[in-house]
Amino acid sequence: MKDSRKDLEQLAAWVQESHRIVFFGGAGVSTESGIPDFRSEDGLYRQHFRYPPETMLSRTFFNSHPEEFFDFYRKKMVAPGVEPNTAHNVLAGWEQEGRLEAIITQNIDGLHQKAGNRRVLELHGSVYRNRCMKCSRAWLLEKVMESTGVPRCDCGGIIKPEVVLYEEPLDESVLLRSVRSLQCADLLIIGGTSLAVYPAAGLVQYYGGRRLVLINRSETRMDNDADLCFREKIGEVLGAEEEIRLGKA
Ligand code: NAD
Repeated sequence: MKDSRKDLEQLAAWVQESHRIVFFGGAGVSTESGIPDFRSEDGLYRQHFRYPPETMLSRTFFNSHPEEFFDFYRKKMVAPGVEPNTAHNVLAGWEQEGRLEAIITQNIDGLHQKAGNRRVLELHGSVYRNRCMKCSRAWLLEKVMESTGVPRCDCGGIIKPEVVLYEEPLDESVLLRSVRSLQCADLLIIGGTSLAVYPAAGLVQYYGGRRLVLINRSETRMDNDADLCFREKIGEVLGAEEEIRLGKA
């Protein structure tokens, strides 16, 4: 870890003093579990597809090219068998210790819940929720993954993953709960997100507290606003923070 011991000690002290931490995260939180993000060097946006990923993940494309949408979705948006990494596990520990107000995530991979967190606000939905567009019947992820072509309900309707596609609005109740959490937070940690996807990235403006920590491998528009800024892997930073706080290092 290149980051100074002093910054890690400061982070550990703030975590120790906080009771309403909000963690705001994105795809970078899951790269250490083996799920590629969008905008890193080896992210999905650097790979070549017949259509750009933004196009294939839009509602217009879903409606007009459902077979190609599901082909891309199964291959690139769902990562079966992945496990939470150190970052997820440390955040789960904070919830158990009563320090965590909420995790607000742009991720759709369900790894925070798999690590044990319950206070998770999924801004962009989850691959684990799927619903028939005709009769609203809920279906498991397995149904989507095991079907070929466009997954169909018993009634014939298309089964749509409850993930937010480009051009679709965010769930209002999730947005409202996110704003409320940010307004009452005593520490905001932003991690593993380019802060480039709106409206999700705009939510952090509702933070009303004093301490802001940013953990992201590449530069973001909020680096200068942060009281502490780590350009390291989030699993390594949160892992090192925990070792210091629990007196192991
Ligand atoms: P992004 O790809 O735009 O940005 C990810 C950021 O994380 C980058 O700035 C990168 O430098 C940083 N990063 C990567 N690995 C890191 C690590 N180990 N430690 C610290 N930083 C790391 O992702 P985004 O901001 O979340 O926005 C893109 C959209 O992609 C989101 O809406 C999300 O729904 C979707 N997405 C989700 C998943 C997932 O669920 N795991 C995966 C890919 C994309």
